[in-house]
Amino acid sequence: MLDFSETATTARQERTRFMPQSFAAAPAALSEATGLGTIDRHGGRVSVDEKRMINCRADVNQLLPLKYKWAWEKYLAACNNHWMPTEVSMQADIALWKSRDGLSEDERRAIKRNLGFFAASESLVANNIVLAIYRHLTNPECRQYLLRQAFEEAVHTHTFQYIVESLGLDEGELFNMYREVPSITDKAAWAIKHTQHLDDPDFKIGTPQAGQAFLRDLVAFYVIFEGMWFYTGFAQILSFGRRNKMAGIAEQYQYILRDESIHLNFGIDVINQIKSENPHLWTSAFQEEVRNMIREAAELEAAYGRDTMPRGFLGLNAALCEQYMHFIANRRCAQIGLTPVFPEAENPFPWMSEAMDLKKEKNFFETRIIEYQNGGALDWG
Ligand code: MN
Ligand code: FE
Repeated sequence: MLDFSETATTARQERTRFMPQSFAAAPAALSEATGLGTIDRHGGRVSVDEKRMINCRADVNQLLPLKYKWAWEKYLAACNNHWMPTEVSMQADIALWKSRDGLSEDERRAIKRNLGFFAASESLVANNIVLAIYRHLTNPECRQYLLRQAFEEAVHTHTFQYIVESLGLDEGELFNMYREVPSITDKAAWAIKHTQHLDDPDFKIGTPQAGQAFLRDLVAFYVIFEGMWFYTGFAQILSFGRRNKMAGIAEQYQYILRDESIHLNFGIDVINQIKSENPHLWTSAFQEEVRNMIREAAELEAAYGRDTMPRGFLGLNAALCEQYMHFIANRRCAQIGLTPVFPEAENPFPWMSEAMDLKKEKNFFETRIIEYQNGGALDWG
């Protein structure tokens, strides 16, 4: 059994003192956090009580015994939702996209910018999980989920490659939009700002400042990027699907939405768990800062809405998207225990909550899930 009492710490320091200088210089806490440190041949077995979200001193290379069942359950749910973009037929979308008057110029512009926003965003989210979050989240069941999520982000990026190829879109135009279209760049740059310092090899969570930096990253990517910005993006494309336009892309977006709602809920659970284990990080000043992040992010989304939908179409317009963002922002605040940032807003797209509610997803995708569970079995006959 590992012992975290003062005596154990002293014993560890004692061992370190007699190590050759090169070993002693290695940041012990950091290597333990990554799981790539020297294997402790004499350590005790891990107990559930020793497991922590951050700053964990127990071996992170052992999945069992499980502590956070919510993380394991999300991993299982995600595996049951397996899908690939290439299974969705694009024939009707191709015909509509190539037809001269099937779509208005405004509709084409909104679709292209939406695809351009998502195409690079999926990679940004993936890079943040793999390069920033994974090494600092010192819990193996959460890491198990992150590995699954990382694969799903690859599937989502694949989706945009498949759409570009199917519709014969200009790949350079789409994949560069996150640099070339200012309303998209502003969102990407805002998010990257919160992950950059975690990329510093010397960054480690130990101080309250570093712990808050890690929480800021989780808020920026899970609550805001995936939990707010993606949702207006889904609303845009699903409103085409509801009118039987671009039905193939709309179906792919429904699969992505189903994945993303688990990503979001995982992120919220991670944030709330870190808060409850480290209440000193969740100061009232820090809560105010997070509320400001959410407010700022909603404003960036409103600017993107005005840019992508200068005129309304299909029952959508920039003002309704902004109202939707306010509704979603308040909901996200509640989910991480913050007071709302906007006056109470009504959901202008009630059909979205039907398409997305986690509870309804199982029925909505039931056939597909069952197909995968059976079809995935190997036949060695
Ligand atoms: Mn994704
Ligand atoms: Fe995601």
